[in-house]
Amino acid sequence: MSAEAVRGLVLNIQHFCTDDGPGIRTNVFLKFCSLHCKWCSNPESIGPKPEIAYDSRKCIGAKACGRCLKAPAPEGAFYVVEGEDTVRVNWDLAHEAGGELAALCPAGAISLFGRSMTVDEVLQEVEQDGTFYRESGGGITLSGGECLLQPDFSAALLREARNRGISTAIETAGNVPWEFMEKVLHHVDVMLHDHKLTDPVRHKLWTGADNSRILANFKKAYETFPDTKFIARTPLIPGVNDDEEHIRAVLAFIRPHANVVDYQLLPYHRFGASKYGFLGKVYELQDFSPPAQETLERLRAIIAESFGRAPAL
Ligand code: SF4
Repeated sequence: MSAEAVRGLVLNIQHFCTDDGPGIRTNVFLKFCSLHCKWCSNPESIGPKPEIAYDSRKCIGAKACGRCLKAPAPEGAFYVVEGEDTVRVNWDLAHEAGGELAALCPAGAISLFGRSMTVDEVLQEVEQDGTFYRESGGGITLSGGECLLQPDFSAALLREARNRGISTAIETAGNVPWEFMEKVLHHVDVMLHDHKLTDPVRHKLWTGADNSRILANFKKAYETFPDTKFIARTPLIPGVNDDEEHIRAVLAFIRPHANVVDYQLLPYHRFGASKYGFLGKVYELQDFSPPAQETLERLRAIIAESFGRAPAL
């Protein structure tokens, strides 16, 4: 099989992104993640397989339609309660459903997250933005999910992107075997990587895994790939990691490495909260709010001082 024909499970391709690497970028989101961050805004990206989602507000009703109730398999995934017309979901069964179920819904109430694509298919879409890359210094960014959990596909995609003159970046949480990261990093110009929490016990509490492998991978990456640019990032969650101690610990970790060129704070937001319900999942941070502007400015000033530049706005 040629490298261009390698297949990956792609969640979404987003155009004209400006937050995930230099210039204007096309973000390719891959499915599957090894962390379960409680603040995750892409819950549809976590599972390793395509996933059904259901928005009951769009269902036109069992009497008017009812196609999902007659779908052959899995039986009972969609059902109605006596006296009601809107369809309900048995999520244990629905998660086993294939894309056919989404295709038969005429109202778009049932959708499928995740589609198998070749390197060539992805790049055909990415290359539509070529003019913007050339004018802005942008390129392709692989994100997720965790793009390094599909190392063969990610490496083949980024290698071919470079062959076609497209600059490459990845966005990773780093919780993968080192061999996966190494394989992909050979083809990466910029790696954006998360330092979510310093304390390993709290890291496990909030993300589902401790940070020992992540930190070992990052250190090895800085040292093994001196020509790659690394940008550290922290999704800033009030009451979880918005403290000076964490920010200073990250700076102590990254500043000895000249190829870590920036450290960015990403303020918590709730944009993905509604998606949890569509997937039959529960969003645990209902009571959380974005960090205060004063906190952001104070922490960004600490970072700016460390890098010897003016604070980011
Ligand atoms: S197929 Fe779609 S619109 Fe029709 S009953 Fe099922 S969920 Fe509702």
